[in-house]
Amino acid sequence: MEKICVAVRVRPPSPEEKINGTFWKVEDNRISLHRPLGTPITGVSYAFDHVFDQTCSNSRIYDLLTKDIIHASVEGFNGTVFAYGQTSSGKTFTMNGSQNDPGVIPRAVKEIFERIQRTNEREFLIRVSYMEIYNEEINDLLVVDNQKLQIHESLERGIFVAGLREEIVNDSEQVLRLLQAGEENRHFGETNMNVRSSRSHTIFRMVIESKRNEVDSSNDYSCSDAIRVSVLNLVDLAGSERIAKTGADGVRLKEGKHINKSLMVLGNVINKLSDGTKMRGHIPYRDSKLTRILQSALGGNAKTSIICTVAPEEVHIEETKGTLQFANRAK
Ligand code: ADP
Ligand code: MG
Repeated sequence: MEKICVAVRVRPPSPEEKINGTFWKVEDNRISLHRPLGTPITGVSYAFDHVFDQTCSNSRIYDLLTKDIIHASVEGFNGTVFAYGQTSSGKTFTMNGSQNDPGVIPRAVKEIFERIQRTNEREFLIRVSYMEIYNEEINDLLVVDNQKLQIHESLERGIFVAGLREEIVNDSEQVLRLLQAGEENRHFGETNMNVRSSRSHTIFRMVIESKRNEVDSSNDYSCSDAIRVSVLNLVDLAGSERIAKTGADGVRLKEGKHINKSLMVLGNVINKLSDGTKMRGHIPYRDSKLTRILQSALGGNAKTSIICTVAPEEVHIEETKGTLQFANRAK
């Protein structure tokens, strides 16, 4: 069983919310809550595999939390990278990044193609899909207005989303264009894009299939590794904020309940997986669409990183504590 890597990233304070002193102190791999003038508040201090303060770049995040997973995915191992956190804490910044500092997704895509280029002894086929889970319904982001796909399971394919479009891709520019198109489809019919994006989980998936070149395999008859298929999921989760805060009416309340439930199930699944003992028992993948879709790339010898993003401002202290508790259960 692979260890799940858990990190916390504190984003810079937003200009309009000035910070009166520092509330969250980052020292090495520990984050603690302090009073504005510096005295620590006991009981709110956690250590993780990594804790990053506001000066951390996406490039560093990628190197420490994603690179190994990307390399392994080209070698045939499944992997998943999550961004977890309340709305506005920096999940999308971490996954997509900015022009100057691309995030996990564009870096991963680029590196996969670079690796493949250099792996002469194998031939690769890469497929990309992009989906959104909104109110426990799966939408295909590579198809305009294609809604409500179902999850199926078969001996041949394992667990899969029936009808999900998979595009065969040959270079990173093509993938980035698909992502862009996916973003546009996502907002189809929406009046408020931010609202929608903070309430749905998006899963960007690359399926990497490779086989040994014929020339090469003629020298070696151990065929066990002749064909490899691996799945890489890069997941921007829905905002983890509690419902009450969002002033929930009917629709919002329904969304909030679905989000809270699926994030709770994700927490439960990860908590069981990270329990190193043999006592962990049943893993409740089936309790949400999110965990069901990710099932084959969570646990076993799949590699997983969770990047928990937090906002530094005082108004967000309670949500930040909630995120740290989630992260703490995951490690
Ligand atoms: P989320 O996806 O969690 O709702 P965003 O990624 O959209 O949050 O971040 C909210 C805002 O903060 C955006 O304007 C984003 O560019 C900015 N931001 C987030 N994290 C960072 C960071 N580490 N460095 C600079 N700006 C950031
Ligand atoms: Mg976002």
